[in-house]
Amino acid sequence: MCELYSKPDTLALRGKHIGPSCKVFFAADPIKIMRAQGQYMFDEKGQRYLDCINNVAHVGHCHPEVVKAAAKQMELLNTNSRFLHDNIVEYAKRLTATLPQTLSVCYFTNSGSEANDLALRLARQFRGHQDVITLDHAYHGHLTSLIEISPYKFQKGKDVKKEFVHVAPTPDTYRGKYREDHEDAATAYADEVKKIIEEAQSRGRKIAAFIAESMQSCGGQIIPPAGYFQKVAEHVRRAGGVFIADEVQVGFGRAGRHFWSFQTHGEDFIPDIVTMGKPMGNGHPMACVVTTKEIAETFSSTGVEYFNTYGGNPVSCAVGLAVLDVIERENLQGNAVRVGNYLKELLEAQKAKHPLIGDIRGVGLFIGIDLVKDHEKRTPATAEAQHVIYKMKEKGVLLSADGPHRNVLKIKPPMCFTEEDAKFMVDHLDGILTDLEEVTETKSDGVISENVVCRTKEVHVEQPNHGATESRENHSRKRNGVCSDQHTLLSKRLKT
Ligand code: PMP
Repeated sequence: MCELYSKPDTLALRGKHIGPSCKVFFAADPIKIMRAQGQYMFDEKGQRYLDCINNVAHVGHCHPEVVKAAAKQMELLNTNSRFLHDNIVEYAKRLTATLPQTLSVCYFTNSGSEANDLALRLARQFRGHQDVITLDHAYHGHLTSLIEISPYKFQKGKDVKKEFVHVAPTPDTYRGKYREDHEDAATAYADEVKKIIEEAQSRGRKIAAFIAESMQSCGGQIIPPAGYFQKVAEHVRRAGGVFIADEVQVGFGRAGRHFWSFQTHGEDFIPDIVTMGKPMGNGHPMACVVTTKEIAETFSSTGVEYFNTYGGNPVSCAVGLAVLDVIERENLQGNAVRVGNYLKELLEAQKAKHPLIGDIRGVGLFIGIDLVKDHEKRTPATAEAQHVIYKMKEKGVLLSADGPHRNVLKIKPPMCFTEEDAKFMVDHLDGILTDLEEVTETKSDGVISENVVCRTKEVHVEQPNHGATESRENHSRKRNGVCSDQHTLLSKRLKT
């Protein structure tokens, strides 16, 4: 629950009353956004922010064509999906045309969580198996069924891993078990999945599904090595399970050259079930599960129908169609390739300059900047990452830090992001990293310590201080050129 109160010039969240149900970006100094357009958001004072993290406003905030399509359909009809309507048929046709031919049956839902929950039902029904293999640090949604398969969540809470859940190592070739110098990291990581299957089977358990994001987002912008998914799919199918590709964050052309991120793994890889959400409605809540005829028929043969009151309603489908039109008409996939490549080039140059940058990785407009304290051990620079995102916010650039160590700066902006935006963002990042390195005097040895960054004993790297807002108002200050307030180091996990 959030308690609101009025400041003379704004209405803000009172930090100490922000309960566990209200999670916002920049918790100690939240932003109140009043309007947005394209890749920019504006607060109540008119301050402009460059939005580098919004993969929901996919084709740009408040895109006029999307807004128009929604309003037009709302004037005419909106109802549940118990009636025939052209929009749902038209949308299903357009959507499946973007996917391999075998993925031909759509189930419409309202959120990514609903989509993943249904995907699990489809998978479990298919062969009557129950167990699920998930990747370490994965997040697949907020429903009970999904927290169970989201180590990102259950490893932090009091929940224990259920016996039907198996956690495979994240195929992270930068910080994971097998790295870029491994002769065949894809096979090595896939063999880990094979081992898990064999071990589970030896205890009489049966695998229903392997689920993974095609590129892992909350887990730290991880791009699996080429060939990994093909090999995993082989092992999983041999065990009677299906492959679920979660495209909730990374679908709809974000990868640039391909409409779906799983397609970056090659034409010989086709998941059995694909789930999608966030960008699908450009902010309007709509999501979907697409699967094969065989899996869908097994599901319907149980007699348990799938009905979702709002899923696939005429307004949602009108919005979805408008989003697809804009992606095509404005060549946003082409933009993701061009601007994504340019941004990566700029960031690679920064990496050569700043010891804090350990790795730059990404595809299209899905990029991660892995901050490290030292290049050899790749020690995550968590406090520094938190410092950077708060300083970037002061410069009018919205970034977030995620991954198991919260040291990976995530970039996944609206797809209309331009080269000028990329340059603006990188110039500010350069300035902030330069200041940070000057203060810590580490440019030569590349070692930055948390204590040096903060130069204060009140470093709260792990622990958000919800009561900090009022004191922050009074004591916001700089020390040695480095913002040293507690709030600069707050590190709350926020999935977006
Ligand atoms: N899958 C992934 C990969 C996600 O990131 C999320 C949301 N962050 C979900 C599923 C759940 O989607 P929703 O919040 O729309 O239920």
